[in-house]
Amino acid sequence: MDITINRESKTPIYLQIKKQIEHQIVVGKLPSNFILPAERTLSMKLGVNRSTVVKAYMELKADGLVESRIGSGTVVLASLTKDVTQEKMYIPPVRWGQFESKRAARAGEQTINNILSVFEKERIISFASGISSEDACDINLMKNLNLQIIEKYREKLFMPTPVDGSTELKTAIKAYIQGNGINAGTKQIMVTSGSQQSIEFFARTIIDSGDVVLVEEPTYIGAIQAFESYDAKIIGIPMDDEGIRLDILESCLIKYRPKFLYTQPNFHNPTGVSMSLERRKGLLKLAYYYNLPILEDDPYGELYYSGNPLPSLKSLDNNDYVVYLSSFSKTISFSLRVGFVVASENIISRFIQFKQITDIQTSTLSQLTINEFLNGGHMGPHLDYLRKIYKNKRDLMLNELNKGNLDGMEITVPNGGYFIWLRLPDYIRMNEFVKGLADKGVVVMLGDIFYPGYSINGNYIRLNFSYPSEKYIKEGVSILKNCIKQYSTASLKKKYEFKAEINPFI
Ligand code: PMP
Repeated sequence: MDITINRESKTPIYLQIKKQIEHQIVVGKLPSNFILPAERTLSMKLGVNRSTVVKAYMELKADGLVESRIGSGTVVLASLTKDVTQEKMYIPPVRWGQFESKRAARAGEQTINNILSVFEKERIISFASGISSEDACDINLMKNLNLQIIEKYREKLFMPTPVDGSTELKTAIKAYIQGNGINAGTKQIMVTSGSQQSIEFFARTIIDSGDVVLVEEPTYIGAIQAFESYDAKIIGIPMDDEGIRLDILESCLIKYRPKFLYTQPNFHNPTGVSMSLERRKGLLKLAYYYNLPILEDDPYGELYYSGNPLPSLKSLDNNDYVVYLSSFSKTISFSLRVGFVVASENIISRFIQFKQITDIQTSTLSQLTINEFLNGGHMGPHLDYLRKIYKNKRDLMLNELNKGNLDGMEITVPNGGYFIWLRLPDYIRMNEFVKGLADKGVVVMLGDIFYPGYSINGNYIRLNFSYPSEKYIKEGVSILKNCIKQYSTASLKKKYEFKAEINPFI
């Protein structure tokens, strides 16, 4: 049995001995029933302490490679892989759940996957998604753009870009956001695979286990799940029709000393509410006073249907407190997966490290398609078109909901974005209602999932109006209202009436 000790190595000597014996057993050099030298003999031969050899033999025993036999000493066992054919081996079933990390267990439910899977099913009226309608995409324009970029970039189209995005696209984004009042250099801009990736990277950059993160209540489920996966304690701040309540925010800033606030000032998902200009300014003031970083998520800002768009927090912030996220998912295409972040260079450099180990880069083809879209002057007319078709759909859904007054139903009218937030009468049992509605072919999002910790705060559902066709909006709302009416019989009202939980902060 040959063993060489390297005293310069960082590997402890007992491990060097153990590993070499293990190797010799596995390759068959030490056959089963081979008797290893006595501990004292080997320690003298190698010039090491006896306890070092004892420790090496103990490790080999723990691995099931040798055993101590009275009268014989330490004996090599039959090696499973060598002496037993696979057919004869007992292979226990692998239980992946046992191997999962704590982080995996915190990752939450497959809410977004469940919504997206519905689109493969026929005859479902989906008010549950957060995607554009099929007619939002000008397929001829997309075809021409793709032909143009193939001609223009040729092989380069199938080659990598830098991790933080193609320089051409970053330059186009720089000009695009400048039009919306955000001044940033290309070093402060990074392309991500949708803004979901930026939310995840931000959580990874900032959150330590147990940190407090503030969000509007309710808020985007994809953000809740990302923050929870890093074991954040999420505190929801209630909103009114001007956005986040600054009085409650301030008391939470004093009480919890949070790491950051995640907010969607424009056409908030799920409520559709936009933060007033006064609130935006007040929020920044609080942020500066209490040293609160802000993660501003703005995928819907361009989709306004009445009034003028308000300035983003990022454009109002001259002190680098705001990290700004946006995306082309809601305007050009969800499936191209192109979003971007505007932040200080040290945040961008962390994001680059994370992107390297996540997906290396956003698809070159997707990036250059968006680049061509922006540079070719298509964005302006396209946004005008989207504002027109989505405004019509919003108005249609509101009209259908308002037809024939339904008792106890409250509608939050959005000035833009994708969603209508609807409060149903308090006596409705929501899980049962939403399931019954799905059985009739209409799927909606249950409001509870947008509350951190699923705290029930009234009977809300979120209705998406961008995706369904006008025909489906009419049919779906009619089915929805019939379901509500079924619940509105006097007996049911009596049986299930209860008071919605009152938010302790108000
Ligand atoms: N933020 C909000 C508020 C959203 O609604 C969504 C998509 N539903 C995202 C981020 C993620 O969008 P994407 O990754 O497609 O850019």
